[in-house]
Amino acid sequence: MSKTADGHPFDATHPDALALYCSDGRFTDAVEALLRKLGYPRLDTLTIPGGPALLEMLSSDSASLIALRKSLSFLVVAHHIKHVVLIAHEGCGYYKSRFSYESKDAIEKRQLKDLSSAEGWLQKHHPTAEVAKYYARVHAARVSFEQTT
Ligand SMILES: [Zn+2]
Repeated sequence: MSKTADGHPFDATHPDALALYCSDGRFTDAVEALLRKLGYPRLDTLTIPGGPALLEMLSSDSASLIALRKSLSFLVVAHHIKHVVLIAHEGCGYYKSRFSYESKDAIEKRQLKDLSSAEGWLQKHHPTAEVAKYYARVHAARVSFEQTT
């Protein structure tokens, strides 16, 4: 029996939605389900530990900031992305490791600020892309998403 995924359907059109989120694979299925619910059955993904955090200088470093901005701009422009969904998640290991001295609440506040900062950068540099921000929480082994303002 073949263990490859040969023969999977390929759609040559680029999706017009992009999700920028953390690499944490425990959230991958839930993020894809959220995007489907929002009306985006297909998506470009930009995943990196911490996700949108890396667009904010205080939670990133200059090399990561530049690399992520470059990747994001490339996708928005070259793939004609119209909808960008930024997602942060509860218990993110990136934040826990970088801000190990901060409380759970302080980290959550920081994540929400970072989502706004990422949105601000996108609005400034890619004003035609619509941005939505979500915070993923885990309760009773279920992921739920809160839209943030
Ligand atoms: Zn994470």
